[in-house]
Amino acid sequence: MTRGGEPLAAVFQRLIANYGPVTLQHFMGESNARYYAGKDPLGSAGDFITAPEISQMFGELIGLWLADIWIRAGREGPFHYVELGPGRGTLARDALRAMARCGLTPQVHLVEASTALRAIQRGAVPQAQWHHDVASLPEDAPMLVVANEFLDALPVRQLVKTPQGWRERMVDFQAGRFLPVAGDKPMDAAVPPAMREQADGTLIETCPGAAAVAHDIAGRLAGQGGAALFIDYGYDRSQTGSTLQALKAHTKVDPFATPGEADLTCLVDFAAMADAAQAGGARHLGTVTQGHFLRALGIETRAANLAAAAPHHAAALEAAKDRLIAEDQMGTLFKVMGLAAPDWPDGAGF
Ligand code: SAH
Repeated sequence: MTRGGEPLAAVFQRLIANYGPVTLQHFMGESNARYYAGKDPLGSAGDFITAPEISQMFGELIGLWLADIWIRAGREGPFHYVELGPGRGTLARDALRAMARCGLTPQVHLVEASTALRAIQRGAVPQAQWHHDVASLPEDAPMLVVANEFLDALPVRQLVKTPQGWRERMVDFQAGRFLPVAGDKPMDAAVPPAMREQADGTLIETCPGAAAVAHDIAGRLAGQGGAALFIDYGYDRSQTGSTLQALKAHTKVDPFATPGEADLTCLVDFAAMADAAQAGGARHLGTVTQGHFLRALGIETRAANLAAAAPHHAAALEAAKDRLIAEDQMGTLFKVMGLAAPDWPDGAGF
């Protein structure tokens, strides 16, 4: 049971019994809205852990990247720090502390749908203002935007090639469980002509919500000035196949088993994000691996300095640094995409 009263599984069962299968996009969107609404999923006691929760070095280096591009853009006056899906507010707190050391104290705007997480963010960043989506962000000054593991939580649409043509992937309830099925409506028109000829079983995944966010933020950067970093696990050359997965207590589980009770995520298609951002008017500074980005920003020096100041933490700092940048950990699978207003300088690390 959740705060909403009726378990989401019961809601979906009723919907499907009355109206037939729901789209995967609907299933994922409702599941994650319910999942995040009432709990803090982060950390060792939760379902997954993220880079800012691993080490303060992550947020600090992001803050320094923002300060660096702001200063090199030659800007003065007020600006906004904007974060999408800030979790516990840890990244915002660490980044803002690093920016303050450079003399920068922006206004803080957090885009967060979850009431439970907003309450925790208020503890970390009490001066913030909260928004339900990017539409209400202020338009009066440049914005520096950060989003870590935000896009991967937005619902995807999947199209699958069947002998009868392209169909949307839906979720049905059969023999006591939810499972994916091909829809019965023709969907060929939703697939770009160049991609239509594919073997049966081929699956195309798109994330309309993520593309819309990239497009909207890009338009803001072009109109108001500013820069943005989108960090997530994903790929930078478009591919086919489902990347949907669910995490519960740090273990992969069946994404259809317990709607609203596990974190549903998909890999981010960074090529599609860059296209959407450029169409929205921003400059694409580049997309690189998290390992490359954090090394370029000096994470190794920062870890060594912190270890020298606190030798009893040296082993933990080394382990945290490796976790963030090692190839077999978060270093390669995670990517960093940089965007900026067309007349802004290149960002560091790309
Ligand atoms: N950036 C944080 C948290 C990542 S978890 C970190 O790195 O630790 C995903 C975050 O996005 C959560 O804060 C979640 O509540 C938020 N979120 C997910 N879907 C959202 C949506 N549609 N609108 C606003 N926030 C959303």
